[in-house]
Amino acid sequence: MKAKKFGLLLRGGRRGVVRLNFRDASRALLRIRFVRLSRLTLRNFRNLGRQDLEFPPEGVAVVGNNAQGKTNLLEAIYYLETFRSFRATTDDHLVAFGEGVFRVVGELDSEDGERVSVTAAFEKRGKRKKVTLDGVEQGRIADALGRLAAVIFSPSDVDLVSGGPSQRRRYLDIVLSLSEPGYLRSLQDFRAILSRRNAALKGGQGQASVQAWDTGLVRSGAAVTQTRRDWVSTRCEAFCGYYSAVSGGFGACMEYRPGVRLDGAAGREDIEAAYGASLAASTERERRLGTTVVGPHRDELWMTLEDEGDHLDLREYGSGGQRRTAALALRLVEARTIRETRGHEPLILLDDVFAELDAPRSERILGLLETEESGQVVITAPKPSDVRIRGGALPRWSIDAGRIAS
Ligand code: ATP
Ligand code: MG
Repeated sequence: MKAKKFGLLLRGGRRGVVRLNFRDASRALLRIRFVRLSRLTLRNFRNLGRQDLEFPPEGVAVVGNNAQGKTNLLEAIYYLETFRSFRATTDDHLVAFGEGVFRVVGELDSEDGERVSVTAAFEKRGKRKKVTLDGVEQGRIADALGRLAAVIFSPSDVDLVSGGPSQRRRYLDIVLSLSEPGYLRSLQDFRAILSRRNAALKGGQGQASVQAWDTGLVRSGAAVTQTRRDWVSTRCEAFCGYYSAVSGGFGACMEYRPGVRLDGAAGREDIEAAYGASLAASTERERRLGTTVVGPHRDELWMTLEDEGDHLDLREYGSGGQRRTAALALRLVEARTIRETRGHEPLILLDDVFAELDAPRSERILGLLETEESGQVVITAPKPSDVRIRGGALPRWSIDAGRIAS
């Protein structure tokens, strides 16, 4: 059944990956299912120099001391998913010191033997980024997003919980851009209109100049709001379940807190009406502050710990381990979203995930990853004891000063 679905989805053949216009891009994500990274070629990506790596279908465990390039390797792989670093950095920093250009090439295989090659290159001087699929340059990088269907688990994920609301909005935006058709387009429209509207407010322009943006703002903002709200409401149970499984039975919840008063608005039209009313009610405050004060740019993904019937703000009251557990739960929800929306197992990238978790939590997350995630895994850690996934049977590579040996 699955294989048949794949065949249908990929009809058009290896060279059938056509250039899509933007509106088709997110729909295409539902059709193209390349999952296995079989080969990775790197040139001047951070300290990794020149690498031509063949990845086993089940994945690999990469062991090496601190500062040898383990995270850099996962960063390079994940770059092929979103064409930006998963770390808070710019493309400039990814180019090896003293070099002008980096290049990452991944060959991705689907279950029925189809193969696509994804290339990303960045030139520091002109800040030029080029993305190709099977050698065809993509006019819009958005057309090539999400080919890998990868999820990266990293120690810095704790910032998802500890950091400000923008970190959690970014999480939602990445997950939803890769899984919900039309979301990225609405988000980009919203951001563009918001910035113009804010410029009008900041420049002290008249009411008519500000309000000229309202129809577009409300339309795109309501689409973003509705998609985020619906995703959170359908995934909050999974979040609680994962949190409980890793923590050993403790409760946590996530809740969508919109930056617009929805007052029970359900469908798109109601949300648009609620957003319009909120804007109208904030004219005075906007004038005073010189910025748009209501909308999805003020959303929060609120996470709480359950404590004897109370809900405690996880960001405020959670311990380091509790926050890390919540961040792991968010990544597991992301993996589940890929599985459910794209119909295949995600590529799981695990960057030293067991560091800083207590032994029982480590065992439970290991158990969960074994049962939930059956796709390809690339795991890194400084200690061999921390790459035990898949019964410790994954092929083992070592990394030393950016050189990878199998
Ligand atoms: P840890 O176990 O401490 O997390 P790691 O193996 O994950 O270490 P990475 O973060 O992958 O280490 O690599 C860090 C190394 O990469 C540092 O030595 C750093 O100087 C080097 N590095 C980072 N950016 C660049 C760059 N643009 N060019 C060359 N080297 C770089
Ligand atoms: Mg690292």
